[in-house]
Amino acid sequence: PEQTAAATPEVTGAIMPGETDNPLSEEKLVALTFDDGPYGEVTNRILDVVEQYAEYGVHVTFFALGSQAEKFPNTVKRAADLGCEVANHTYSHKNLTKISEDERTSQVEDTADIIESITGTRSKLVRPPYGAKNDDVRATVKYPLILWSIDTLDWKTRDAKSTIDAVLNNVSDGDIVLMHDLYDATAEASKTIIPELVSRGYQLVTVSELAQYRGGLEAGKQYFSFRPQN
Ligand code: ZN
Repeated sequence: PEQTAAATPEVTGAIMPGETDNPLSEEKLVALTFDDGPYGEVTNRILDVVEQYAEYGVHVTFFALGSQAEKFPNTVKRAADLGCEVANHTYSHKNLTKISEDERTSQVEDTADIIESITGTRSKLVRPPYGAKNDDVRATVKYPLILWSIDTLDWKTRDAKSTIDAVLNNVSDGDIVLMHDLYDATAEASKTIIPELVSRGYQLVTVSELAQYRGGLEAGKQYFSFRPQN
């Protein structure tokens, strides 16, 4: 893939260092999300990019598995310390529509406990594995359910160029982008996606930040994107 100039996006409209405290309601916003990790060096490579662009206020969201967070607590802590959101993707990637209410609750709450024990912050968001949800799930999972509006299919292609194109050819204000911090190709893609979105004037925010500026969140409701409200 074409290399984008590193720390100095020059396209007009880019948010410059020091401007990130401005009200985000006026900005173009996008939330990049990474599921199924943390996974060793892949997550750390993504965090390296986040850290590289920290002066632009770049934050992403990880929908972590509780089982993986237990294996890589230092990575979870690093993500949180960089201002990223570590949210809940269940303990072991169970389809929440196919398990009992008790198991559903333990899958979600055990993971929230693990994340809180590492970061000190209790996750307020759940992404249901496989995007699987129904009335039972909505009624019993006491958190907002976060889906997505751009599916990169990175798990299928495992190709950086395909993942880059899926984002950059489709992105618009308020999108939630689905990726997975399991694949080297996804980490590689983030090295292009993040600076290019910054250079296009997008503020890369967490899902909770995006929601905060676009109408908020309610437990038991599902969200695919947060478009501007005009
Ligand atoms: Zn998943």
